[in-house]
Parts: sequence; C-alpha cells; structure tokens
Amino acid sequence: MVAEEGLNDLAAAVSRRLRLHGSFGVRRVRLRTAAGRLAELERQVKRCQLCDLARTRTNVVFGEGNPEARLVFIGEAPGQDEDLQGRPFVGRAGELLTRIIEADRVLRMRRSDVYICNVLKCRPPGNRSPDPFEIARCLPYLFAQLEAIEADVICCLGAVAMQALLATKEPIGRLRGRMLDFRGGKLIATYHPAYLLRNPGPEEKRKVWADMLQVREYLDSLT
Ligand code: URA
Repeated sequence: MVAEEGLNDLAAAVSRRLRLHGSFGVRRVRLRTAAGRLAELERQVKRCQLCDLARTRTNVVFGEGNPEARLVFIGEAPGQDEDLQGRPFVGRAGELLTRIIEADRVLRMRRSDVYICNVLKCRPPGNRSPDPFEIARCLPYLFAQLEAIEADVICCLGAVAMQALLATKEPIGRLRGRMLDFRGGKLIATYHPAYLLRNPGPEEKRKVWADMLQVREYLDSLT
C-alpha cells in the first residue's frame, strides 16, 4: 500500500514536471538532478527575449547557490552591480544578505549553502521597480527553479517577491514573519536588505532577525 502511494506521488511529480516543461515548448524531457535541471533552465533563460529588458541588460542574472538548498532567498531584480557581474546580490544589499545568512546567532549557514535568485532575471533600467508585464513573463522561470530545488523554506525578500509568489497585493508589513504553507514547503517574507540599509535603526533589523530565527527553528525541527 505504502509502495503504491509512493508510486502515485512519483507519477504526480513527473506529470507536473512534464506539464511545466510543456509550457516552455519543450517536448522531450530527460530525468535529471536538481543541478542538471537548473543548468538546462539557465541556458534557456540566458537566451530569453520575452520582454524589453533583454535589450538593456548586460547579463542575465539567473541565480546561484546550492541546487539542493534547504533555503532559497528571492529578491526583486538585479541592480547595477548584479547586471555587470551576472550574479545576484553582490552589491551593498548583497553584502548585508550574506551577513544575515552567516550570522552566528541566527541562520548559521554559509552563503554557498543556500540558493539566491530574483523574481526578474534582468535589470530594470535605472533600478526602477519591475512592471507587472515583466514579472508575468519572468515568473515561470522562478517557479521552474523552485521546482528543481525543492527547498524546505522559501524566503521572499521584500514586497515584490512576496506579492509575485503569493499572487497577492497585501503589503509586506501584513504578511511578514509568518511561516506560510507554499507548494509543499514553507514560505516566509521578510524585509529586503536594501530596506534595512535605508532604515538602519534597530527596530526593523530586529524583525528580520526574528524572521530568520523562525526559519532556523523550522529547519532544525525537520532534522
Ligand atoms: N536587490 C535585489 O532584489 N536583487 C539583487 O540581486 C540585488 C539587489
């Protein structure tokens, strides 16, 4: 009976994946590891021309980190530093994100343990906010990344990521700090590191610390 249930789960997962690939126009699929699936997707995203950002980007910023990460961080869109280097969160906000990930008394992880990416894979010129068309075009790539990684926790950094993933217009202040059920795992939203840099007082920082402690406790509860 248990074996039969396991097979049903496997069949459902395979069928979900086939539908996802089908939506990208892919007709033949080989079963692959998370790393293999991400590498294949990255090749596809690097050729993407689905919106005008393809004309202004220097590099596509696909994402980086452990393909089998238990924790994924999702930001908004690449900024200037990220666009130039082709890597997510490498500017000032990225330095703060790294400190948050590696802080001794909170997550106690290394940056290379987690996976880091953005809702948009290309920089909006002048660092303007992503527009709804760009988000709609790019979101399937993010969902495909998340399907490949199958992390225990997804952490949305800021309102853009939270609203895109949850398909909501709720402000971040309303949903921040809550461990929500999401596609078989958990999703938590917290403030974007760039917001913390703009609001350096202890109060907002404490909220992010508390959110990360929840993530740590949840991950520990699974092991
Ligand atoms: N801000 C983001 O949202 N993403 C990055 O990669 C860098 C800054």
